[in-house]
Amino acid sequence: MKDNLNGLIRELSELYDSNSVDSYISLYVNINTFRNFFNRRIRACRVILKRDVLKNFNKTIDDIENILKNFPSGNIVIFASHKHNFIRYISLSVELQNLLIVDSSPYIRPLARIQDEWESFTLILINSNYAKIFSVSVGKIDDIKKLTTDIINKHKKGGCSQARFNRIRKGAINAFLSEVANALQKHSDDSIILAGPGTIKNQFIDLLSKEVKDKIIDIIDISIEDEKKLLKESFHIIAEREQRESHEAVQHLKQEILKDGLAVYGLVEILKAVKNGQVDLLLIEKDYKTRGWVCENCQVVEEGISKSCPYCGNKTSEVDVIEEILEFAERTDANIEFTDSDEIANLGHVGAILRFK
Ligand SMILES: [Zn+2]
Repeated sequence: MKDNLNGLIRELSELYDSNSVDSYISLYVNINTFRNFFNRRIRACRVILKRDVLKNFNKTIDDIENILKNFPSGNIVIFASHKHNFIRYISLSVELQNLLIVDSSPYIRPLARIQDEWESFTLILINSNYAKIFSVSVGKIDDIKKLTTDIINKHKKGGCSQARFNRIRKGAINAFLSEVANALQKHSDDSIILAGPGTIKNQFIDLLSKEVKDKIIDIIDISIEDEKKLLKESFHIIAEREQRESHEAVQHLKQEILKDGLAVYGLVEILKAVKNGQVDLLLIEKDYKTRGWVCENCQVVEEGISKSCPYCGNKTSEVDVIEEILEFAERTDANIEFTDSDEIANLGHVGAILRFK
């Protein structure tokens, strides 16, 4: 799921209709509540769209309906353009606000925000003879790997002395923990939350490579039965971590600005930097939008209104400049943080830490 989402956002950020025609539909919906909204938006778009664009719109809606048939419930995001023979979708477990947008390129901002706010992580719950490794992405458990061993029964039958039995038992626990450590090693390139009862967690940590150890972001003391509580707590930890990261990114940007270092802010400067591939980390004010235009022919974006491109004369599309900045940033593999910091708002709603100047 995580790779899907990252790959999808990247792919979408590259797409646009080079003639600035409104040929892409981006749909974000909760299947349980979307129908009235959806039909109303379709009617409105049909009234507005000109005949040549309308034909593609109708065919694209048919393509979308075909996908929707397979999803009786849940949240789904669909990007489609019949004209470009393009359709992609992803079902998500996070609540979506219903949204239907017709534009010359896919509208990726809500998806980028989900990606920012729902960091993938690996959760491991362990004791001496039982372990469960959960892979969690975009608010949902993608995969569970369960490992167990029958330490007591395996070694009880020998009729050996207590001391010998204890020794064997210790060895068996160690072997089991090593097996789990190996599984975890293969499993995870994400942050890890380690949980379980008692001191076995420390024994387990000792068996991990430094690389895996460094990925542990929290350790939770919890009974092996409290899985539900643990999952809830883990999501909480991840959400707090995201907030902290976003706060730290703002602090970092402020430092760079004070030093007149590797930072820029404000729409004009950011647009220039992001098109140049200079942006390492982009900070965006959460709900800010600003009207501008794009010439898909020249790949020029500017704030304000212009029906035709002053550079090539082609027809332009009206855009949210922030969305365009986001698309450029995704194309150049920048990290993106959404923030509600007042300082970012006052610095022109966007800021960036640069790779080079
Ligand atoms: Zn142009």
